[in-house]
Amino acid sequence: MRIGEAARRVGVDAHVLRHWHDTGVVVADRSAAGHRLYTDEHIVRLTTVLACQEVGLSLPEIRTVLHRGETGRRETINRRLARIRAQRARLDEAESFLQHVVDCTHDLLTRCPDCTRYAGTAPEQTMPFPRR
Ligand SMILES: [Zn+2]
Repeated sequence: MRIGEAARRVGVDAHVLRHWHDTGVVVADRSAAGHRLYTDEHIVRLTTVLACQEVGLSLPEIRTVLHRGETGRRETINRRLARIRAQRARLDEAESFLQHVVDCTHDLLTRCPDCTRYAGTAPEQTMPFPRR
């Protein structure tokens, strides 16, 4: 199938597939006329790359992760796992904080030791999985 059809099937713009092709993430075949051609196998690879993006891996990291023999593959995955676990810990703290605040008996949060303790540890950046 041509690039437009492949892009539609995986739900991204064609320029994304062109970029992934040019950077060697998912390299399409070429027709005699020079058009990029995608097989069902390519579609599987494209959806796998999207899944890797969903867990926060960059394109260079995804290139490393896709092939089992790549140097640094285990380190790349372990680095991402460590970040995910840190983010989960922060989200657990955020959840506990809000669960406390909803029923906090202090008239001002700033007068509550539990509330201010959380504020003292709040990080500058808590959003998990920034995309692209
Ligand atoms: Zn409180």
